[in-house]
Amino acid sequence: MNLPELSAMGTAGTSGLAMCGGILTVDLDALAANYRLCRAAAPGAEVASIVKADAYGLGLAPVARALHAAGCRTFFIAEPEEGAALRRILPDAPIYVLNGLFPDAASFYRAHGLRPCLSSLDEIGDWAREAALCGSVLPAALHFDTGINRLGLSDAQAARLVAEPERLRGIGVTLLMSHLACADEAGHPLNERQLARFRTWRAAFPSAPASLANSAGLFLGSDYHFDLVRPGIGVYGGNPFSGRENPFRPVVRVEARLLQLRDAADGETAGYGASWTARGPRRLAILSAGYGDGYARALGSASGGGRVFIAGHYAPVAGRVSMDMLTVDVTGLPEGLVARGDLVEIMGPHVTLDELGLRAGTVGYEILTGLGTRYRRLYTGAGYAEKGAQAI
Ligand SMILES: *Cc1c(COP(=O)(O)O)cnc(C)c1O
Repeated sequence: MNLPELSAMGTAGTSGLAMCGGILTVDLDALAANYRLCRAAAPGAEVASIVKADAYGLGLAPVARALHAAGCRTFFIAEPEEGAALRRILPDAPIYVLNGLFPDAASFYRAHGLRPCLSSLDEIGDWAREAALCGSVLPAALHFDTGINRLGLSDAQAARLVAEPERLRGIGVTLLMSHLACADEAGHPLNERQLARFRTWRAAFPSAPASLANSAGLFLGSDYHFDLVRPGIGVYGGNPFSGRENPFRPVVRVEARLLQLRDAADGETAGYGASWTARGPRRLAILSAGYGDGYARALGSASGGGRVFIAGHYAPVAGRVSMDMLTVDVTGLPEGLVARGDLVEIMGPHVTLDELGLRAGTVGYEILTGLGTRYRRLYTGAGYAEKGAQAI
């Protein structure tokens, strides 16, 4: 998109586009298609959605509404405040809190209809007390640790729970869950060990539905599907696997504005630390996005470096990434192809989320959740389609 196109959009919803340094576009149709791909990959299982961390940085409200419209009925967030926000968006959906039941917070969970993923006997005790206080049965998930050693009942605690079932009085166990540590590596031996351990605890609570798989776990085979699967990153377009092609469609495009074109003579340096030197005359483009917008400083040219997609060509980052700007080398691009004000793809169909993660020495998850708040956000597709791109 360039500026004339943007101003042609001209609706109240898109006003201010000329004032923003960058635009983050979320394709809600691609999101829904990725959700449906999960359904096709796990026939017979319910496909829930993970919308923690502001829906992986993409915006809780539009994402949750689009997933609900695509047929998703059960949602997971990490923290109770996120759950309360989601409750305002989806008044009736079951909402599970992955990080468990916080101390002294049970009444908050109950008031917002949140289901804690109970991870310890202490949490179970707190939730049972809340149930006794209010005199009703309160729903919750039981979270078993089967090998990740993060959250979840240990084998000893789970055995104690089986021996002392009165601990669950007042708790309606609506889900049994565990989380895989190495699902992205299909051949990792921990996967089968976790599966076996999860089956053991499932046998102890045969009446409750069970859930083990995240996005990558979905592709480990139907043994891992149980009754409900919990994909996150795949639905947002990230590749859940290491070293395997991404079956999901890109959802996010990030464009940064071209602030200035300039010429650097042979031997001149660019950016902080003078870490980049022009070899021969070079043409540079300064873009309005930096590490303050989640464009990782690790993408600077000294450490391998990122690249952007500009007017149909790739251009490498030149020098260090600053807080609000990055510089790319556009030498050799045909004259007149790029101009001040253009929007340049720094992430999207040509520069994938996973490429950025790899080049920055991290993962797509961290890139997405770090995108920052300065981008103008546009949502396309789904219910937004008839209005064109809708700014939120
Ligand atoms: C974040 C999370 C998921 C989703 O994982 P993805 O790899 O993004 O699919 C599923 N389950 C639990 C417990 C999580 O914390």
